Amino acid sequence: MNTQAVLSARGLVKRFGGFNAVDDVSLSLREGSIHALIGPNGAGKTTCFNLLTKFLTPDAGAIHYRGRDITALAPEQIARLGIVRSFQISAVFLGLTVLQNMRVALMRQHGDGWRFWRSRRSIDRLNGRAMELLDAVGLSALADTTAALLPYGRKRALEIAMTLALEPEIMLLDEPMAGLGQEDVTRIAALIRSASANRSILMVEHNLSVVADLSDTITVLARGAVLAQGDYATVSRDERVITAYMGS
Ligand code: ADP
Repeated sequence: MNTQAVLSARGLVKRFGGFNAVDDVSLSLREGSIHALIGPNGAGKTTCFNLLTKFLTPDAGAIHYRGRDITALAPEQIARLGIVRSFQISAVFLGLTVLQNMRVALMRQHGDGWRFWRSRRSIDRLNGRAMELLDAVGLSALADTTAALLPYGRKRALEIAMTLALEPEIMLLDEPMAGLGQEDVTRIAALIRSASANRSILMVEHNLSVVADLSDTITVLARGAVLAQGDYATVSRDERVITAYMGS
């Protein structure tokens, strides 16, 4: 595997009042890898995600994208670089069909000016790409279903398809398995694996068997700090990791 870091954080710190929610965290997302951020509740995982996408501003530390310092960029500039956080369920338009949702997501990526809508060819291309993505996530048979009627697991799949529509180079997934039954977990895991073929993925995930199965690298956080990093075999044997999980 290529070991070049596409996204790296060095010495990130985030304080809330006098409390260090993220305390000197460094991590490197390698090109083409799946990297999991795990740890007990309150470890600082969500805050880390918010720092990497600049939803929050770090109090100290730096973020680099392919060697370029992006610490000062705004969230939309980060997204424009191709660093995209998965849509939250709330970003799915529940009153629209699955296909209409995909069109909305694709329009964010491919022009939405009047020129676009005057061209039959661009509309056909957009519809073709929407169906291609729905096919990839197993939703093509539900293309005309209103999103509100989708079971929860299928909504998560739609959310991932909408994120993929933005053609992210780096995809950040926030607990992709939360609330899913085993069948959906298996489907979404396969989807994440195939999505990683041409992009790098950083995910916060609680389901450790999914983490073990999918991740090339794992960063374990506890009380805002990095406790261990490495592959699953390495971190799962680490005494400090075992203690942190037992104690939570
Ligand atoms: P995790 O995602 O690992 O469960 P979080 O990043 O959500 O952890 O939270 C880390 C710590 O920071 C927790 O103790 C949490 O209560 C605290 N925290 C998170 N966001 C805020 C905030 N906006 N204001 C104050 N404290 C916060």
